[in-house]
Amino acid sequence: MDKYEFLSNASIALLIVALLLRFLRSSFSPPADADTLDEYLQRHPDCRRHGRICCYRCGSASIYLYRLGYGPGWIQHLHMCRQCGAKLYRSTIEV
Ligand SMILES: [Zn+2]
Repeated sequence: MDKYEFLSNASIALLIVALLLRFLRSSFSPPADADTLDEYLQRHPDCRRHGRICCYRCGSASIYLYRLGYGPGWIQHLHMCRQCGAKLYRSTIEV
């Protein structure tokens, strides 16, 4: 193996490690910008109707879950309004 071939193999390995670390960091760090359900209901107390959570912007109770991240034993979701697309709150479930 000549010197240049070794260098290119080493840089490919470094690139793979860098991408892997970046993937792991994005998967394992929970985002702090979305409210939790408690914070959401404190901010929008009228958004709990008949035991259901609804959208502060349009009032729809149709909410879907977008997976934000996961780690060993947990998954974090962002709850978003299906009607208008507003970001409502985040939740973490243990699996
Ligand atoms: Zn909405």
